Amino acid sequence: MKEAPIIVSACLAGMYCRYNGDIQPHETIVELVSQGQAIPFCPEVHGGLSTPRAPCEIREGKVIDSDGIDRTEAFQRGAEQGLRLARLVGSREAVLKARSPSCGSGEVYDGTFTSTRIPGDGFFARLLKENGFTIRTEEDLPE
Ligand code: SF4
Repeated sequence: MKEAPIIVSACLAGMYCRYNGDIQPHETIVELVSQGQAIPFCPEVHGGLSTPRAPCEIREGKVIDSDGIDRTEAFQRGAEQGLRLARLVGSREAVLKARSPSCGSGEVYDGTFTSTRIPGDGFFARLLKENGFTIRTEEDLPE
């Protein structure tokens, strides 16, 4: 039987979905997508946010953008959409962008917009973990 694809952060696959409208392609991930072994997904765009958008960080369990607007609902919606997609394709694993407030796994920024890192998960990564997924970041992959 064919192995289920993994879910990957869309920006790592070369999609223009980062908050600043940029991409951050990772060679291994682009290759996995081109071979049909990975499906790109951006929880922030699927949660209803535009690109470009103000950067967001997690503060006291909520997602706040750099203008002080609460974006928690959009982040939750995007994470739920990603879980739905992952289940549809039978995936059990994801490779997500390090330190993003959606995709980060094990480490995120502290909500002060000062590039200060703290232990924690982004909303999408956390929801996938709670549902038994194995999560890695692009920093865990070979270049
Ligand atoms: Fe990339 Fe995830 Fe941010 Fe979307 S939410 S731009 S996939 S890190």
